[in-house]
Amino acid sequence: MFISFEGIDGSGKSTQARVLAESLRARGLDVVLTREPGGSPGAEEIRRLVLEGDPDRWSAQTEILLFTAARRDHLERVIEPALAAGKVVICDRFADSTRMYQGLSRGDLRALVDQLHSLMIAREPDLTILIDIDPAVGLARAKGRQGSEERFEDFGLGLQQKMRAGFLDLAREFAPRFAVIDGARTSEIIAQDVLETALAKL
Ligand code: C5P
Repeated sequence: MFISFEGIDGSGKSTQARVLAESLRARGLDVVLTREPGGSPGAEEIRRLVLEGDPDRWSAQTEILLFTAARRDHLERVIEPALAAGKVVICDRFADSTRMYQGLSRGDLRALVDQLHSLMIAREPDLTILIDIDPAVGLARAKGRQGSEERFEDFGLGLQQKMRAGFLDLAREFAPRFAVIDGARTSEIIAQDVLETALAKL
């Protein structure tokens, strides 16, 4: 069972991914909690190459290649072996993030993202949990965090709004695998909703 979490910056998806992993482990399931960009040693190196330093270092196209390379490594070395061993894989972001961030934010490159995806990845999660939140709330949360990887979080409200709408469009496009969860509620209530959604699919 492969579960991904998606959402704009500050949506709370990383917290919810961690809480779901703990809840499923408490029920005796073998869970691998991982994240993108990154999730394997090679992919974490690529994450640093892209997220740290000069934001204009890579063209939009090169960035898509780098994220796809990172995902391929993560898939080969972490995700596929865990799934083959019967484990539950919970991934904080997966290909839908590239469809949104690389496919939408720097021009309309969705076709390129899709072509590379079908060539090199060709795998979708069984369930994608989209934590949907008003970008003003998400941005305030994201700005409250410290870290060296905040360059994408300088997107600003306008682009975050575009991303939110884009994620909701993706949820319609890939309807059967998406569950849209209202992220404006308390963390505990969201976690309950997420757990029930996951258990219904297991
Ligand atoms: O989810 P996380 O906060 O770890 O993501 C790090 C940053 O990378 C975020 O600000 C996100 O907007 C950005 N990102 C991206 N393209 C992806 C995945 C994440 O621009 N495919």
